[in-house]
Amino acid sequence: MRNSRHTLMRPEGWPDSASTPVVSPLSPSVVYASESPDALDAQYEGRAEGYTYAREGHPNADVLGRRIDAMEGMSGGVVTGSGMAAVSAVLMGCLKAGDHVVGGDLLYGRSLRMLREDLPRLGITTTLADTGDAAAVEAALRPETRAILLEVVSNPGLRVADLEGVAALAKARGILLVVDNTFTTPRAIRPVEWGADIVLHSVTKLLAGHSDATLGWVAAKDPALAERLRVFAVTAGLTASPFDCWLAERGLMSFDLRFDRAESTAALLAEYLASEEVRVIYPGRDDHPDAARAAHLLGGRACNMVSFELLGGRAAANAFARAADGIAFAPTLGDVGTTLSHPASSSHRALAPEERERLGLTEGFFRVSVGLEEPEALIAVFAAGLDAARRAG
Ligand SMILES: *Cc1c(COP(=O)(O)O)cnc(C)c1O
Repeated sequence: MRNSRHTLMRPEGWPDSASTPVVSPLSPSVVYASESPDALDAQYEGRAEGYTYAREGHPNADVLGRRIDAMEGMSGGVVTGSGMAAVSAVLMGCLKAGDHVVGGDLLYGRSLRMLREDLPRLGITTTLADTGDAAAVEAALRPETRAILLEVVSNPGLRVADLEGVAALAKARGILLVVDNTFTTPRAIRPVEWGADIVLHSVTKLLAGHSDATLGWVAAKDPALAERLRVFAVTAGLTASPFDCWLAERGLMSFDLRFDRAESTAALLAEYLASEEVRVIYPGRDDHPDAARAAHLLGGRACNMVSFELLGGRAAANAFARAADGIAFAPTLGDVGTTLSHPASSSHRALAPEERERLGLTEGFFRVSVGLEEPEALIAVFAAGLDAARRAG
């Protein structure tokens, strides 16, 4: 950065400083000028370290990528322009026509769409299965199955995958196990320690944490696969902008504190909702259908996501969302502020009503991503929402 090459257009270069900044510099440069063709050869041949073109790599992506690598206990992760770019890098960069993929039937909506609509168009067949049940995943496998994609905690029902069972299957059959760790984060689980071959994130959510950067990250345990992911991400243009990486690096500094605070408030909120006789789903509660598995896999962590169901259908849901003033009714998660999402009118609106009922996503069902508010203040807002919902329902 400091001794940037002087050009006729930019003759000043970068001011020298004997002291160094404590914050990573932002390096928006798209290109990096080299000294000579020999110098460029040295770079491309790995004899010298250096950047050439931002799509292929830049300092802000590397700084962010190495931090997330360390959190996940992996190396060589690629920072992508979104979580879906990370999903695309895996599914399109590692598979070929004729391969088969098994995906969780409660994956993030766009991942589901890619499995249902886009991969089949490219000759890659897919089957959706309940990843909470290793036998159901086994039944979906075929001789040409090459990958299994799952999320540890599903959205929005917050069910917990049978990661151990599925990892054993994948290992026995030589199938790549791909884990989207967005909800759980490395604070709750490091999937690579449970047998994942590839781990990915929507960094947009809890890791960056401020709803101001759209990013992803993906890493593979096998170096050859990691290189394939990187090359495909560069070729397909899935890599990230320096400014987003710089913002996310700042967000990441407080990630542990944010996660712990949001998680402890989520437990309090779940407790409050249960005390009000509202059906609540929180992986840290004994009444969660996968409580034992959650405790085993997440080692006592339970994350910041709480789902609950109001009686009284759409009228109660409308009354709740209107009265819960100060909580953004917005389809994201992991922000500093609590956000509320209503799957029946947003993420799962394309499903037939019967299918939504089957998944338990009734008109009264909400998913909450708990943020950093004072717990008492947050619970007071929920109390006002419940009160309004009861009067409407
Ligand atoms: C949001 C999300 C994604 C997609 O990430 P983007 O950054 O929005 O592209 C993938 N998986 C999960 C679990 C998510 O929540």
